[in-house]
Amino acid sequence: MKILVAVKRVVDYNVKVRVKTDGTGVETANVKMSMNPFDEIALEEALRMKEAGIATEIVAISCGAATCQETLRTALAFGADRAILVESDTELQPLAVAKLLAAIVKKESPGMVILGKQAIDDDCNQTGQMLAALLGWPQGAFASKLARDGDKLAVTREVDGGLETVSLSLPAVVTADLRLNEPRYVTLPNIMKAKKKPLETIKPDALGVDATPRLKTLKVQEPPTRKAGIKVPDAKTLVDKLRNEAKVIS
Ligand code: AMP
Repeated sequence: MKILVAVKRVVDYNVKVRVKTDGTGVETANVKMSMNPFDEIALEEALRMKEAGIATEIVAISCGAATCQETLRTALAFGADRAILVESDTELQPLAVAKLLAAIVKKESPGMVILGKQAIDDDCNQTGQMLAALLGWPQGAFASKLARDGDKLAVTREVDGGLETVSLSLPAVVTADLRLNEPRYVTLPNIMKAKKKPLETIKPDALGVDATPRLKTLKVQEPPTRKAGIKVPDAKTLVDKLRNEAKVIS
């Protein structure tokens, strides 16, 4: 079975995000960029399925500017067999990405697509669900465990109050949650090998997809700074403040 893995280039999770002074977005110039952490987990799961003999080929896909090639080279260094960049200089929103991925799925006919549960830059948590809907495929979102069960895939999902296991017929779309696995480290020899692996570039037009944004960002602003806390002398004062100042208890 061939597995497609969607990997997004995002501001590194260790970077303190700064809002642009004109409020149009967050600063990305001279900022460290990395693979979205949930996509590393998705890729790791695909690699483990290949090592277990369940998957035969892993194709990493990223949609965005030419700089996403760097993210794809990282995916190849982790162990993906080849990569596809859907290159676009316009902002790609989840519906556009889902349509682009759906077009690639039609070309590649994979048995499964794994995505991260959400991208840490837009926090949308939409692309996997939209992709499954566009393809008409079953979906297992927020997966914390995957197991091949004959011609089906058992997906354990993290839901409110516990775990739910669903049985999906393949082909299917899965999105990876934090506890699915712990991604491996990339080794230097694998970084070198990745340079020779195939990386194809396609434009959205060639896939027949209109990737124009549907949503307009009106304003981006920093969250209000938290006020310093105070110490209260006893429980009675605390209850009094919660009731009469914060008005959170009656
Ligand atoms: P989101 O719906 O934006 O929170 O993203 C959910 C997941 O969709 C991410 O973890 C990625 O696996 C995938 N994804 C979103 N945008 C892109 C992109 N531009 N390129 C590749 N994969 C993406």
